[in-house]
Formats: sequence, C-alpha cells, structure tokens
Amino acid sequence: MVNLDSSVAAIPGVGEVYAKKLEKIGVLSVKDLLLYFPRRWEDFSHITPIAEIRVGEPVSVRGVVWDIATKKSKKGKPVTEVILSDESGTTKAVWFNQPFLEKNLQKGEEIFIAGTLEFAYGQVSFNSPAYEKVHEEGITDLRHVGKIIPIYSETDGLSSKWLRSKIADLAKLVYGLKDHLPQEVKEKNDLMELSAAVRSMHYPETMSELKKAKKRFLFDDLFCLFCSVLSNKKEIEKNQSIAIQYDEELGKKFVQSLPYELTNSQRKAAWQILKDLDARKPMNRLLEGDVGSGKTVVAAMAALMVAARGYQTVILAPTEILASQHFLGLSEMLAEFDINVVLLTGGLKEAERREVSKSIEDGEAQVIVGTHALLSADIKYWTLALVVVDEQHRFGVEQRKALKQANGETGTMPHFLSMSATPIPRTLAITVFGDLDISVLDEVPRGRQKVATFLVPHEKREDGYKFIDEKIEEGRQVFVICPLVSESDKLGVKSVEEEAERLQSGTFAHRKVALLHGKMKKEEKEQVMADFKGGKINILVSTSVIEVGVDVPNASIILIEGADRFGLAQLHQFRGRVGRGEHKSFCFLFTESESEVTRKRLEALIDSENGFELAEKDLEIRGPGELLGIKQHGKIDATLLEAMRNPVVISAAKESANYYLDHFDLAVNPALSKKIEEYKEAAKLE
Ligand code: ADP
Ligand code: MG
Repeated sequence: MVNLDSSVAAIPGVGEVYAKKLEKIGVLSVKDLLLYFPRRWEDFSHITPIAEIRVGEPVSVRGVVWDIATKKSKKGKPVTEVILSDESGTTKAVWFNQPFLEKNLQKGEEIFIAGTLEFAYGQVSFNSPAYEKVHEEGITDLRHVGKIIPIYSETDGLSSKWLRSKIADLAKLVYGLKDHLPQEVKEKNDLMELSAAVRSMHYPETMSELKKAKKRFLFDDLFCLFCSVLSNKKEIEKNQSIAIQYDEELGKKFVQSLPYELTNSQRKAAWQILKDLDARKPMNRLLEGDVGSGKTVVAAMAALMVAARGYQTVILAPTEILASQHFLGLSEMLAEFDINVVLLTGGLKEAERREVSKSIEDGEAQVIVGTHALLSADIKYWTLALVVVDEQHRFGVEQRKALKQANGETGTMPHFLSMSATPIPRTLAITVFGDLDISVLDEVPRGRQKVATFLVPHEKREDGYKFIDEKIEEGRQVFVICPLVSESDKLGVKSVEEEAERLQSGTFAHRKVALLHGKMKKEEKEQVMADFKGGKINILVSTSVIEVGVDVPNASIILIEGADRFGLAQLHQFRGRVGRGEHKSFCFLFTESESEVTRKRLEALIDSENGFELAEKDLEIRGPGELLGIKQHGKIDATLLEAMRNPVVISAAKESANYYLDHFDLAVNPALSKKIEEYKEAAKLE
C-alpha cells in the first residue's frame, strides 16, 4: 500500500525513470507530491455551448466527435483534427504529434475538451486542448476538464497532465496529513485544515475555495517565518542590557557641534535609539537609510551617550577600508567631547594590536571601531553596552551571546543597532525583520546634488571617455565598476585587471589608473584607497563586491560596465559613491545588452533618485530574497511576494506567532518546531 511516506517510485505508473524526474523538482515522497501545488488554475467549471465560445477565453465544451482525421503538416508532422458539435453548433480542435488520438477517439463519441479557442494558421480552433471522454470506464470524476483545472509547472519530461493524474490518484491520502498549525491559531484566523487546504489547492470547486486554501498556506508560511524570527527576539529579550540614561544637555551640545543641521528623520531615529538605550531591555534596532542619508552621525550620537555614562561601544564595519573611514569620521565628530576612539582591524601589527586590546580591556578605549576581527574570542571588554553593525541587516543570536561572554562579570548583553543602506520596502521589512524595530532615514540631507545619470550607447563610448578626461583635467577623480566575469569568478579579478590594463594602455595612458579587488592583500587595498583619497590616482577600477561604502568627495564620476548585471538598488548604491562633494557629479551606465527590458530598467535609475522606489522595482524583477541577501531564497521569495500583496495576512500571522510563542511550548508540537527550524535556515542572510 502506498502511504504518505512512501517513495514516489512506489506509486503505480511512476517507476524509476519518473522518480528521478520528480526528484529533480524536490519531490521524493508521496507527501511531497501532494504538497507540489499547481502553478496556476484555469476555470473551466462551466460548460459553454459551442455557439457562445469567444476566441481567447478559456472554456469547457461538451460535444460529440463528428469527424476525426489525421493529416500531415507541411513539415511532415501528424496533425489530428476533430470536429466537435453540440446542439448549438460545431467547432474544431487540433492536436499535433498525437496520431494515436485517432485510435482513442471514435466518431460519435461524447467528449469534453477544455482550452482556449485560438486564431492561428488562418483558422479558428482549439490547439491541443485537454480532453476527456464523458463515459470513460473507471473514471468517476473528471480530472482534466469540466471544472477548475490545476496547471502544474512543467519540467523536462513531466507534463502538467501527467502530474494531474498522478496526484488525482493519491488525493485520498491527504486526510492522513498531520497539521502542524495549532488548532487555536486556525480557529482565530478562520483557516482551513491542512488536509482540506491541500485538496482544495489541487481540486478547488470554486475560485473562492481556492482563495481560502491559498490564504491558509500564505498564513502558514508567514506564521512559521514569524515564529522563527520572533523566537530569536524573545531569546534575546531574556537578557538584560545596561540602561544608558539620556543626557539632554550633552545631546544638545552634540547637535550644535555639527557643521550641519540634522534632518528630521535623523532626529527622529536618534530619539528612538536613545530611548531604546535608556532601558534594560536589549535594543534590537535596524536603522535603514539610503546611501548618504547620514546614518553615521546618528550612531555617533548614541556612542557618545554611552561613553558619557562610562561604557563602551563597538562599531563594526564590513571591510577594513570602511572601518578606517569610520574611525576617522567618528574621531572627528567626537573630538571635542574628549572621547577616546580606537581602531582595531586584522591588519594591525602584533604589538599595536596588543596595546589596543589592552585599552579595550581596561576601559580606556570608549568607542572601538573595527571589522569583525573585534568579535574574536581573545578580545575582552571593560563593559560593552552598545554594538553598532554597519551594512549588515541582522546579527546572529550566537554572535550576540558571544559578546555577552566577552563582557566579563556583569553578564549584560550589549544593545544592538544595525545600519543598512538597502532600502527595504516596509511590508517586506516587517516580515523578514520582524525581530527588529526599524528606524528609517527617508530624506537626503539638504544641499545634496543630483547625480546626472546616463545610459551611454555603444557608439558614444569614446565621447564618454573624452568627457571624463576633461573632468580629470579639472582635477576630478573617477570610479569604474566592473561586474563579475562569471559566477565562479566571485571576486571579478579578471575583469578589473583587464579593464584597468585596457584603460591605462589606451585612452587614459597619460592618467594614473589603479585597480582594487577582493583578492588583494589588506595592506595593498588600504594603500590603493589611501592613494585614491589622497588624489594620487585618477581612475580607480574596482569590482562590485567590495568597498562600496567609501567616501571620496573629490570623485565626481562613476562609470559602470555591464550595468544590466546589477540590481537597481545596487546600481543606486554605486551611484551614491559620487555627488558627495561640491562638484557636479555623473554616473555613466554601459551595457552590452540590447534588450528592451534592460533599457527600461536602467531608465528607471535615470528617472529616480529614491532608493526605496528603486528597490520596489527591483523586487518585481529580482525577487525579495536577492534584495535582502537571503541565501536560499527560492521558497521565501514566493512567500514574500505574495505576502506583500496581502499585508493584512502579515499582521495577523505576526500577532498569532507572538501570542503562540508567549502561551505555548513549542516542544509539544514537533511538526511545527521542525518547520520553524527550516525557516530559520532558509531565511539566513548572507
Ligand atoms: P550613510 O547613511 O550612507 O552612511 P554617511 O553617514 O556616510 O551616510 O553620511 C554621508 C555624508 O553626509 C557625510 O559626509 C556626512 O557628514 C553628511 N551628513 C550627514 N548628515 C547630514 C546632514 N543632516 N546635513 C548635511 N550633511 C550631512
Ligand atoms: Mg555608511
């Protein structure tokens, strides 16, 4: 007997060959097959009289085979034509390459067909419609026609029709499926039982039943996703942090010391953060803001407040270059407050490292800037109260626990603030980052100028270079970004080396061209960046994967090769490298692609300077997982896209997950725990 756990190979008519094909789409067991849902559905639930069929509308027709004949097409392929009639009229159906039909269907036999009447080859006909005999022996209910028909994704050798009949044979087994969703959650949200929902996904009687089944699965996915992120949150909230009392006087002094006025969103974010800090509950906040929206100063204010109360702040940057940059920036902002800012990176000499480590341990260092080297176990902190992570969304619970350990006797967990320049649409952010509170910097500081962006056609490349050379002559500097040559070439070494060489030996022979990529040694990279910042290099050819956060106000042009290979949000980030000084700035996009879609997409970048807007566009094209940097985003993508269209389901699922985690023990529901673990794994960020 075939049961839910049987291998698909045990299903009659499947066998080894089909089992292999099913394995390719991730279907191993009977249960997997039942959970392999249709890609779409077509509503053939009403039988349409032939006289009322309109071209282009999907219909089911019931009629008598009036005539059937197989001819040869111009290319010699068999074409079977059937004339079908009912009381209202006659119509024609054509099948290609199925000569056996003539044996299967007899004149005078009554059949159903389901499909869409098309106009092709100078005639109106149904083109290879699904069909079924009205009185076929052994078939009690219609599978392919006469109702809402599930259409499955077809892959190599697995047709939708084949899947449909195999799944239909197994339909009864759905009642054995164990539902992992808690009863009270289902009741509260009026959700279908798992077995009923699975059945309805394959064989909905009505479109509204289908809608209800879909809602159950969307809710299910979101509920599990929320349980996974919120259980992290609750785990963290079991800890205590050091409450940093807000010093209003100091806050005012800091704001007045700045050479500019804070934007309203900076004020608001700072206020939210300072308020979080002033509590024993660990802060867990994401500060989201477009490139150049001024996140650093907000973090600086928090670090100042922490230092003033006698505690330490760690600021983590993704690369050494960014760490050095933050170190310089923060030292400057905090200079007049007599705060001791130190830099600790992997590149330090042993003796220096020891000295810095010591100052961290004995509390002399107040603001500690560095790369993730700061998380290494040999670094002890005096009392670490705040961790700021730049350009990363989330910080592992494990990492936070490690920092708690590093915090010595007090056993407190540092407050946590992450900063990200990836503009994440709000509905998406509250889902995937449900464990984080979110502050958004949605305005760009006043006086920032627009970066003029152009899509440069092939034949204008030389003109572009000429323009660039004039700007270099005026003293400006240029970034050139090259995409990866191939997937395996993760660091894009080949492309930058070739491009730098090409520019240096050609058009820009009289300029200084340098290159930067991830395979270079740390010291080399730092040297190149220092030289670029110092104006010794005119053109810096770089890969996309590194050092995108650098701040060189004199650089006023960025040229992007293979622009079609990047997402809009990413291109927007690159563009944010320029326009940081007083000079009019430019972004030139080059692409080899001639597709209309590419051109349209790149034009969106020309038209919009709003990272959030561009991210929304990216979502449609590349999916949310890619935007967020989720490792295995296939499954999550579909859920998130669907969720964004149903914000009501998002909040209901979140509320239920919260309630459930607070009132029930996950251990009593192993099926749910297992699903939640799967989500934790699937939603891991890069
Ligand atoms: P990002 O959010 O991309 O990390 P930064 O913090 O690096 O942005 O800030 C970008 C630049 O904007 C810095 O040179 C900073 O001094 C400047 N800046 C920040 N806030 C303001 C403001 N309110 N008005 C003007 N300039 C600002
Ligand atoms: Mg930044």
